Parts: sequence; C-alpha cells; structure tokens
Amino acid sequence: MTRAQAIAHAQDYYDSGRLKSDLSRLVAMPTESQNPERAPVLSEYLDKEMRPLLESLGFECKTLNHPIAKGPFLLAQRIEDPSLPTIFGYGHGDVIRGLDAQWSEGLSPWKLTERDGRWYGRGVVDNKGQHVININALKAVLETRGKLGFNVKYLIEMGEESGSPGLRELCEEQKELFKADVLIASDGPRLNAERPTVFLGARGVITFDLSIVAREGGHHSGNWGGILSDPAIQLAHAIASIASPTGQIRIHEWVPKELPRAVREAVADCIIDGGPDGPVIDPNWGEPGLSPAEQVFGWCSFDVLAMKSGVPETPVNAVPPSAWARCQLRFVVGIDAQDVIPALKRHLIRHGFPMIEVSTNGSERFGATRLDPEDAWVKFTLASIEKSTGKKPALLPNLGGSLPNDIFADILGLRTIWVPHSYPGCSQHAPDEHLPAFIAREALTAMAGLYWDIGEPGRPAV
Ligand SMILES: [Zn+2]
Repeated sequence: MTRAQAIAHAQDYYDSGRLKSDLSRLVAMPTESQNPERAPVLSEYLDKEMRPLLESLGFECKTLNHPIAKGPFLLAQRIEDPSLPTIFGYGHGDVIRGLDAQWSEGLSPWKLTERDGRWYGRGVVDNKGQHVININALKAVLETRGKLGFNVKYLIEMGEESGSPGLRELCEEQKELFKADVLIASDGPRLNAERPTVFLGARGVITFDLSIVAREGGHHSGNWGGILSDPAIQLAHAIASIASPTGQIRIHEWVPKELPRAVREAVADCIIDGGPDGPVIDPNWGEPGLSPAEQVFGWCSFDVLAMKSGVPETPVNAVPPSAWARCQLRFVVGIDAQDVIPALKRHLIRHGFPMIEVSTNGSERFGATRLDPEDAWVKFTLASIEKSTGKKPALLPNLGGSLPNDIFADILGLRTIWVPHSYPGCSQHAPDEHLPAFIAREALTAMAGLYWDIGEPGRPAV
C-alpha cells in the first residue's frame, strides 16, 4: 500500500461525488452562530454529522461545553501510540449569517449549487468544506495504511463567527487533554486560487475609538467659528500624527525593528493578486521600500475604519461639538500588544492632543503569532505538498488577517501550520460564498499526501 494509493483514495472521494453530497448535507444545516434561534442546529452539526464521521474512523469523541461559549465543542481523539507525534486538527462548524435575500438569482446559502465549476453555499469554504476535506483525507490514509502512524486530536467549535467565546478559556483549562505537538488545520484563503499555500500564524489586531467631545451641541459657525475649537480639525491632525500622508505609521512602538530575513525570503515569490474583481494596489502606500507582500505579511498597518463629525447627511453652519473615528492596527510578531494603546496615549499627549479619548471597549483583539519559517515541520509540509500537487506552495509567515491562532501557539504551545483550501475571491462572509471545485480536489490530494508522510519514519522530530 503506497502514498499514491492514499492520494487516489482521497481523489476518489471527490471524483465519485461523495464530497459534494456530504458537503451538501452540511451546508443545508443553517449553523449561524450569531443567530440565537440556531442554537439547536449548532449541537446537531456535531451530533448528527461530525461525531458519526469521526467515530467511524476510530476516534473517541467527547462533547465539551463552556459557560461563555455559543455552542458545544467536539474533541475527537485517535491515539495509536503515545510515543508517536500528536497532530492537532481544528475546524469550525458554525457559519456567518446566511444573508439569504442577497444571493444571486437561483442561489441559496443553504443549498449547495454547482455553477461554472464552483460550489456555492454558506460554509463551503468557511469552514465546513475545509474540515470535511481534512477529515476525509485522514480517512483515505487510514483506508490505505490501516493506521495513521501518528495520533490525532481534532477540535471542532461552533462559535468562531461570534469570536470563539470560551475557546481560549477551554484551552487554558484543558491543557492536558489538548496536549499535542503540531497544529495542522485549514481555514482562510490561499495566496491565490491556483497556488497551494501554507501560513504559520496571523497578524494581531487591535480596534479602538478616538473621540473628542468639546462641548454640548453645535454653535453657529459665523458667530462662534474662530473662537471655539473644532474637534473635526483636531481629530484630523491627531490621525495625521499617527500616519503619514502615504500611510506610513509614525508611532515607533507600532512597527517592528526590522523585517526578519526568513520572512523576507518566504514572501519573495508571493504576488498579491485579488483577481479580476480585486482592487488595484497603491504601490507607494504604507512603509516605504517594502513590496506589497512584505507590507501585508511582514509589517503592520493602520487604518481608519470610519469617522464622523457634525451631521454628514445634512451639514449645517455650525462648529461641530464632537468628532469620532474607529481605527485599527494590524500588527506582526515583535510588537508588544499590551503596549499598543499605552504607546498611542503617550504619542497623543506628546503631540498636543490631550483632549482625545481612546477607548477599546468590547473591541476586537487578537495577538500576533508566527511559527519560525525555518522550522523543520514547515520545510517538511512544503515538500510534501509540492510532491503531491506538483506545485511549489506559497509560504506566508502569517496571514494578513487575524484568527485566534495565539490560543494554539501560545496557550497550547503548538507549532501552527495552516493549509488553507479557499481563495481571496471566495465571498466568505458575503452573499455567494463559493469554492472552486478544482481547489477541493487539489486540497484532498495535498492533505492525503501530507497525512501519509506524517505517518512515515522520515517525519521531523517533535
Ligand atoms: Zn468566517
């Protein structure tokens, strides 16, 4: 029994139509974690689909709950020999809201539909399609070799689209139960549709509000303009002190000391391309001297997500009483996440803006993570995927976006290797979410080969 046979088994899962029919059933379950009415469906997804599938592969399944979680967690374990390495798998069965009314004619979020070589449906890429591919790639290896040759712990959560409440706490409380060596999981997009991709972490993110409330109510700009401070002007200057006219960050605590050589080398052949519908990159935006890939995967970025002063819909002749902006910093490993807001406050005082209130109430916040691109498991994974697909995978030190990878990297202490099975144009989180069918087949190929290789003696030490 050989590697090629394991890959053929995985490809047959696609070619025979079984992946499509399995995924159709999963997509038909409206597991919207942001919709409280769907709570029963969240449990059903695990009990009716994931548990039977994993049990049929010899996994021992346990449902875990946490008081602050949106839905249950399923931990499935298959321990062949405690002395073998343990791979940690992760996926989420919940989806973002369906937005039923906004899908194109003839498409529905809850019915998998094939059109022009794409599979449409909510969750086909985020994340049902991705974990069902991985679990069935494990199955193909088991069917071929009779065993995996390593241990697996697979965690499926049902609250990721609501910010994974309880996941962090659960991992902290269950460190022993979740103990493993390497995370190999799939979520998010490839660099582009054609190119298999591996990413090793995620940028961190902190979202915060800047606001100035100068006084109550607006005052006539003819009678009072010139003697009342204008919060809109003050806020515009404050933002200008944070970033240059070309978007370069001006707070030194917010940018890394340097771009590490391993990161620069990893992204040297990565071209950012949003496809025909993607935006045109502004080459002179951001940190001078960096390529677009270095900027997104190796550096930090600051954006103003929204801002307001006065009444934009119906402007009046008045000095506005207040101004507000919601801002965001995306940051890489090396930035002290705890110091991002204190550094901002120091900066604002130093530049003469003591009137600005900085608030992070309830905002999104993830730490930055990145496994060393030179780790032996990274090289091993890249070589395995190249051998199976005949394509040189893109290596991204971290995703430009954010995901709670710090839970796995920092709390569970895992090496984190992500192999995404989607692409930037997939409309995840929007109407018409879809998976190009050829990616599904290539992903099964790559994952079956990778799981096969992990069960061989040539795998790296843990
Ligand atoms: Zn999502």
